[in-house]
Amino acid sequence: MKFITIDKKDWAKGIDKSRGTYQLFGPVTDINGCQIKALDADVQPEMEYTDSVLSAKSVLFPQSEKILVTSLNEADDDHHIMKRADGDYTPRAVIGIRPYDARAIQLVKMNFDTEDYRDPYWCDAYEATTFVGLAINKPGPLDFSTSTGTGPFSEDGLDILLADMDDKFLAKVLTPKGEAYAAACGFNTEADAKESQVLFDVMRKDAEKTISSSVETDKLKDKTILDLYEAPFWDDVAFSCINCGTCTYVCPTCWCFDIQDENKLKASSRFRNWDTCMSPLFTRHATGHNPRGEKTMRVRQRFMHKLKYFLDKYDSGIMCVGCGRCVKSCPVNIDIRQVCETMNNYEKKE
Ligand code: SF4
Ligand code: SF4
Repeated sequence: MKFITIDKKDWAKGIDKSRGTYQLFGPVTDINGCQIKALDADVQPEMEYTDSVLSAKSVLFPQSEKILVTSLNEADDDHHIMKRADGDYTPRAVIGIRPYDARAIQLVKMNFDTEDYRDPYWCDAYEATTFVGLAINKPGPLDFSTSTGTGPFSEDGLDILLADMDDKFLAKVLTPKGEAYAAACGFNTEADAKESQVLFDVMRKDAEKTISSSVETDKLKDKTILDLYEAPFWDDVAFSCINCGTCTYVCPTCWCFDIQDENKLKASSRFRNWDTCMSPLFTRHATGHNPRGEKTMRVRQRFMHKLKYFLDKYDSGIMCVGCGRCVKSCPVNIDIRQVCETMNNYEKKE
């Protein structure tokens, strides 16, 4: 671990230099707001954004991804054999990812990279990616990340953490991947490690002090799944939900997908596409039976997964990093902080 300083006058030149080795992703604003997207050759990451509408989730888990291909042409030796689709797993770097979104990727990793199963698409993309974080000096009003195990200066899941110091960035290089990226940019002005750490600590404390929003999760572990599942409040929580799915699409920790096949002439492709547990189709069986046929069941599933099933299964906190995106985006103002409080304080009446 080491610290380097990057004069902002040298920033763009360094980023451009790294394009020779890395495909770059970063925050850019378009008609839909700020997004973390692939950066065109002449586009620099916007390092002064507040928050992005969508997180960096799609860098590893695209909204739509071709995963298998099959030839339907019987003249081909390998016809009707499904093969992995080609993917680009050359080095890539996500510049300016927020610390809570980097932590979210570590939570998603628990699902895609396990002892029993390794999702090759996600894992290969993860291994190819360097995460260059941008600390949050001024957290927004919906940021409750400090109560979800992360925070504005969290280093979890990052290879480099940048702190904006007006005329320069102070960079904490955390991993060999981070070192390789800094070298590819030509950023090599080393700073005193002790002094830099003190500066980081001061900035972190200042930023954390401004966060006033939080969730209470301390009693969730002690509840039984059955008590929470059968609790009487789910109809009230779900009442205004229109099952639009927005909360799941904007969430950096939601990973559900659906599989679709497409045939074109003599070729077939299998895709996986983001899906949402809020959709009535999500759990409908081929028989027509739907174990989550009512809205309340689907809303309960979302919150139980994030706040109870995940917590019990992995013992790594809740499946929420406190980015506030779902709170901001929900058209009917359903707020995970309130639902969490209700679940946390629920006591079953005997
Ligand atoms: S964004 Fe709100 S209304 Fe839409 S599915 Fe989520 S909770 Fe329901
Ligand atoms: S549940 Fe909401 S606040 Fe939590 S990580 Fe997902 S979008 Fe962010």
